[in-house]
Amino acid sequence: MGSDILEGQTCIVTGSSRGIGEGIATELGAHGAKVAVNYRSSEREAHETVDDIEDAGGTAIAAQGDVADYDQVEAMCEEVRDAFGPVDVLVNNAGITIDKTFGDMTREDWDRVISVNLGGVFNCTHCLFDDLQAADDGRLINISSVVGQQGNYGQANYATTKSGLFGFTRTIALEMARSGSTANCVAPGFVATDMLEEVPERVQQKILDRVPLDRFATVDDVSGIVRFLASEESSYMTGQILGVNGGMEW
Ligand code: NAP
Repeated sequence: MGSDILEGQTCIVTGSSRGIGEGIATELGAHGAKVAVNYRSSEREAHETVDDIEDAGGTAIAAQGDVADYDQVEAMCEEVRDAFGPVDVLVNNAGITIDKTFGDMTREDWDRVISVNLGGVFNCTHCLFDDLQAADDGRLINISSVVGQQGNYGQANYATTKSGLFGFTRTIALEMARSGSTANCVAPGFVATDMLEEVPERVQQKILDRVPLDRFATVDDVSGIVRFLASEESSYMTGQILGVNGGMEW
């Protein structure tokens, strides 16, 4: 178990059955938070994440719900409140890619990525907006990407969603400020997860050539920043974008 800086905080991390979300959920759990591990279909992996948190002395539940579906998100939030009480910290992490050059991209490819990466953020934030504002240290943390800053070949749909989070975060930060709660955005560079596995090796090498620190990010590089944003230590930061990208220019 790490420190107890998040003791008493109820956190939902969307898409935390694996990858960056799993790392964030584990990190928040290790610092005393009660964590809801949201997933859409990876039930076994979500339960493994819960087991890992509990094995380390933390408290967690698995919470199924497709973030793109408002009714499912509402039900998932209710389940979490029943288990842990009102939600203090929402990490909008769930995200997907359907990569194609724009000429080959169908309207369906576009809509699906928008509905998960932006629609999901709307649904979760909307369902938890009152909780976050009523919390002593309410925290909204949106996981964007350096791709939202730079654009990326073959990712017009994904890049659009990730830049959209900047305007969303800034606006929600203004609207929540009265309550003392904060909204911030983390924009990781390229992180070694299943999502990166889908990128051809030749393209991975091209990306690495643009990273001054000459390595991909680890999940821990991102989860530590999210833990900081979730904690009281960041209470005077809001509406910000934190780049965790090995020094890439944008
Ligand atoms: P990942 O390994 O593909 O994991 C995605 C997670 O999201 C899984 O737990 C998945 O669970 C969940 N998920 C997907 N669609 C969902 C939905 N509709 N409802 C609920 N959960 C859903 O992805 P990752 O690399 O960890 O990426 C996590 C976030 O970081 C994303 O927002 C991504 O854009 C961002 N990011 C990633 C990188 C990178 O290089 N990997 C860089 C910058 C930013 P199920 O399997 O159950 O669907």
